[in-house]
Parts: sequence; structure tokens; C-alpha cells
Amino acid sequence: MSTQRVAVWRNGATSVVGPDEPVVTAFDLGLGRGDGVFESVLVAGGTTPHLDAHLDRLRRSAGIMGLTHPGDDAVRAVVTAVTADWPAGTEGACRVFLTRGLGDGTPPTLLALLAPVPAETLRQRAAGIAVVALSLGVPADFRATAPWLLGGAKTLSYAVNMAAQRHAHAVGADDVVFASLEGRLLEGPTSTVVWAAGGRLHTPPVETGILPGTTQARLFARAEADGWPTAVSSGTVDDLHRADAVWLLSGIRGATPVTRLDGVDRGDGGLTGRVQELLAR
Ligand code: PLP
Repeated sequence: MSTQRVAVWRNGATSVVGPDEPVVTAFDLGLGRGDGVFESVLVAGGTTPHLDAHLDRLRRSAGIMGLTHPGDDAVRAVVTAVTADWPAGTEGACRVFLTRGLGDGTPPTLLALLAPVPAETLRQRAAGIAVVALSLGVPADFRATAPWLLGGAKTLSYAVNMAAQRHAHAVGADDVVFASLEGRLLEGPTSTVVWAAGGRLHTPPVETGILPGTTQARLFARAEADGWPTAVSSGTVDDLHRADAVWLLSGIRGATPVTRLDGVDRGDGGLTGRVQELLAR
């Protein structure tokens, strides 16, 4: 069985094609301009247990971008097609792409790709990661007033996010926490920041223009139900240094503990097991 799969939606019908088959024209605006939105959906136990939250966010991102959305049923259809018969014992990363197609009122392009979760991601989930804090160069409250910056939308324009991760690798770290111009915590290039302090779990406010994380939302709902209070907090990098534990969260990586921040080793107060158990419930 191939470990890479693609499903494509065309004229209202879904088909699965080989991973090397052409699925978009070179004129697709998603390719030329990053003019589209996407979701990364975990496939675990052969299913997509958190798909609904990703469908909601894809619709929301498309709305922010003024993109035509083909409807949840179409998105479900490409995800179902691409994940069919996926082995229950292999975690998969299903990426759903929705682009503006050729523009000018033509139908959007909708694709789903599936591949195993990289071994390095699984290793980091257990072993932890070194993170550097980098400034994104915008004030924390700016994106809320600047809709053209597409705060809160999961757009295909991830070139800056990828460059930030390359920068982290160049300075010997694994990943990044972005901070605002004045030093307020934002998010990682592909993750939500969560920290434990004062008996609570904390995460930065979405009013800063960060992506509302589906994994963070699930963790906070389950933590609250389990008697672990949560808070939306406007923290700084110093707060992360002082915290009992820091994690980067995403659907694919789960909760990955930060074991080194700006070159300083840090622990997790023995809390990672509880966080990962809450997410796995
Ligand atoms: N923030 C950004 C910029 C991301 O790309 C992601 C990952 O998709 C997240 C946060 C975490 O979101 P989720 O937990 O829904 O995967």
C-alpha cells in the first residue's frame, strides 16, 4: 500500500489519484500566490477523530479570505476518500487544501493529501524540542484592526513560518515561538503555545491574530473537566522561562514539551504525561 495518497474534488465528484499524478493546473492561484487555506488533520486508529473542528476552521479561514467554500460535505468526501483503509497502527497527517483555483469566479480547487506523520515529529513528542523566541515585528493588538493581514486564518502563505523554522535550525534549535513587537507571546509557526504556571494552563489570546488552535481548545476543555483550571493570558518569553512547563501544540504533533528555550534548559514539572493523556482521551 502506498504511504502517500491524494484525493481531488472536481465538478462535484471526488476521486483518488496516484501521488505523482497532476491535480492542479500551473495557473492555480494557490500555487502562484499562496491564495488559499488549509488544514492538517490527524489520522489515528484509521479515523479522523477531530475532523469536525478542522471543518469549522477551514470554513472560517475561507470566510476571512473571501474564498468560495464548496461545503463541508465536499471536504468530508475528499478526507474520507484519502483516508479509506489507512492502517490503524500508523498515525497519518491529512492535509486539506482549498485554493481560489483560477480565480474570476471559477470553482475552487479542493484536495486532500495523506502521508504518515514524520518519525521526527513522533520522536519530538516524546523527547521534547529546543525553541527560540523570534519577533514577528507586529504589535500584539495590530492584526485585530488589520483584516488584510488575515489574522486567525490558516492560509497557504506559510513561507515566513517555514523561514522562521529554518532560522531556528540554523541556530541549533528545533522550532520557534513568535512574540509581538512589544514582546507578547503569539504562537509557533505551526503550533499553539501553552504553558503551566500557578496551577493553571495558559495560552495567548486569539485577539493577537494567532490561529485559534483546535488542539489547545480540546486540551483546555478536557483540563477544565478534569479540575485543571485554564486561562487566556497575555504572557511574555520571561513567563515561559518561569513556567512549570511549556508545550507547542498542534493536531499532528500533539503536545510537544519544550526542553530548551533560547539556549536555557528547562523541565516540564512532570506535567507532560497528564497533558498528553488528556489529549488522548
Ligand atoms: N498556529 C499555527 C500557525 C498553526 O499552523 C497551527 C497548526 O496547524 C496551530 C497553531 C495549531 O493548530 P491545531 O492545534 O488546530 O493543529
